[in-house]
Amino acid sequence: MAKPASRPILPYYLIAALCLAAALIAGWTPLAGRIDNYHYDWTLRLYPPPEPALESAILEIDDLTLLRYGGARNLRRTLALALDGLAPAKPRAVAIDLILAEESDADQDHVLSAAMSRTPNLILSSDLIANADQWEEPYTLFRPFAQAVGHVHADPDRYDGISREVQLEKAAHRLRRWALALEAFRLARGAPDIIESASDLRIGGLVIPVPRRGNRGRPMFIRYRGHPIPRVSVRQLIEDPATVRRLSGKVVFVGVTSQSQARDRLMTPVSTITPMPGVEIHAHIYETIAQREFLWPAGNVSIVLACLMLAMVTATVFAFLTGWQAYGVGAIQILWAHALPHLLFQSGIIFPLLAPAASAWLSVICCAAWQYSLTRKQLSKSEADRSRYQQAIHFVSHEMRSPLTAIQGSSELMSRYNLSDEKRKQIAQMINSESKRLARMIQAFLDVERLGEGQMELKREPFSARDVVIVCLERARPLAARKRIRLEAGELSADELLGDRELMEYAVYNLLTNAVKYSPPETQVLVTMRRLGERLHLAVRDQGIGMDEKELTRIGTKFYRTTAAEKSGEVGTGIGLSIVNQIVERHGGRIEVSSAPGSGSCFTIIVPLHAAKPAAEVKG
Ligand code: ADP
Repeated sequence: MAKPASRPILPYYLIAALCLAAALIAGWTPLAGRIDNYHYDWTLRLYPPPEPALESAILEIDDLTLLRYGGARNLRRTLALALDGLAPAKPRAVAIDLILAEESDADQDHVLSAAMSRTPNLILSSDLIANADQWEEPYTLFRPFAQAVGHVHADPDRYDGISREVQLEKAAHRLRRWALALEAFRLARGAPDIIESASDLRIGGLVIPVPRRGNRGRPMFIRYRGHPIPRVSVRQLIEDPATVRRLSGKVVFVGVTSQSQARDRLMTPVSTITPMPGVEIHAHIYETIAQREFLWPAGNVSIVLACLMLAMVTATVFAFLTGWQAYGVGAIQILWAHALPHLLFQSGIIFPLLAPAASAWLSVICCAAWQYSLTRKQLSKSEADRSRYQQAIHFVSHEMRSPLTAIQGSSELMSRYNLSDEKRKQIAQMINSESKRLARMIQAFLDVERLGEGQMELKREPFSARDVVIVCLERARPLAARKRIRLEAGELSADELLGDRELMEYAVYNLLTNAVKYSPPETQVLVTMRRLGERLHLAVRDQGIGMDEKELTRIGTKFYRTTAAEKSGEVGTGIGLSIVNQIVERHGGRIEVSSAPGSGSCFTIIVPLHAAKPAAEVKG
């Protein structure tokens, strides 16, 4: 595991900031609105309010009532019967959820107005006329008997048409109306009026936290109840007067619930298949106010702050922890984001789900992905380091074996046998030159290693390419002599190169020894050096085992050896050429190889020439 302190932490915060921005943008889209609505409905059903004794009840004009009492045509007479039947219950208020705007059959209107006159605390309804900024007022004959007129304007959600809120205050044509249920509550409490401020409404001792929200008026979330509100149908009331007890002392909402006649049905968070009749929605609004079960939406600033917290905590977790620890805390963050709306709902706060959840999910996934990719990178780097180390071991054992063997053998010769002075001198010289070679080789090897790691700047000195070739030819001669191979120099131009002579010597020597190694006895190895344009072409041509086209594409890859080379019995590791390649590339050049199986190979180093410059400029 990487040490947390050594890891760069800023990227995590940048990633989290981007995720936060994406989550906030996503959180304010219509789709998010729908998801949050859906989640709100679910939460509302999950945590139903307690079921105290309810203050309201519904007196419904249902299908059976309409069937029994003359249908829609006889509605006003039926309503009159209902009001009279209700009187013994002494309701605290009676709210009629029917728009009785126009004049109808005079007889019926007269009967109804008479019944209204006998009904205390009566509230009539008024609605906005569709597409006109005007109220549909109760018929003038009925109006004097109403203690108040409340609006029954529905305010379904703009995304899914579900009724979640009610506008407690609604203005049209310079006339402001309170919601029907609010007026019913005022009358039931015997309050003379509703006192308003920018942040709330007050009725008697009750404060309703509904701030005015510009054009949106004073929306209040309806706390729909899990259990149905008690209902009595008008037919039951008339045919069995004993049922009136169920309405006794209640605030009664009278309205049509008949499937065919009730046009004010709306889907609500607690509706399953059939929409809820308007009269029932009014009763729910009433209970929300009476039971003080207010819900209010969280402010935008607190939503942004919560998302910010989630994203930044995630960034901190991934910046300082790794592996399962980080994933574990990340998972807790996600759970927390999902639990937040539920916890806040218990305190009456409606908190959206999508923005905090998106913020947590996105930041956890992206920070985890970033951490994973970093770990992968570190892993592959350490694997590369390991294989470089192995290569180094191969190189040391392979390349340094021959000088060591020579030194060992010679020193043994000197200690075991009585040699002539001349022979001793010869052997001592050989030991000296081989150990020098060994030292050079070690230096070259270390330089190549450091070159590979980019730790070392290549030396940039002018040197004679011809000198390099001659030195290498001399060194390779004993090797060639053992196989009776003729090591010959052809045309050798006298051009200078700019770079590291030691390394270039290593490269040329490697090509020469390969040519000797992979050629049968009694053949020829020819070295030529020509200037072509601004480049030097240094070619080593042999008459050896050669390679086919497929093999040609692979040589130079570390550890690759051709089958013929493996079978030749020559010791090799397959890393020499890759180092040669690296050296030549560092000199701004490349290697070209032409070869065919059985008919020899030609390796050509092509490097840029050193443009003649004054010595002072060249050093550097
Ligand atoms: P090594 O000689 O230690 O195997 P090198 O990296 O120097 O490693 O060479 C890689 C391979 O390229 C050799 O194993 C051999 O298969 C092939 N090769 C290199 N030079 C020659 C050549 N002159 N003729 C034929 N094959 C060669």
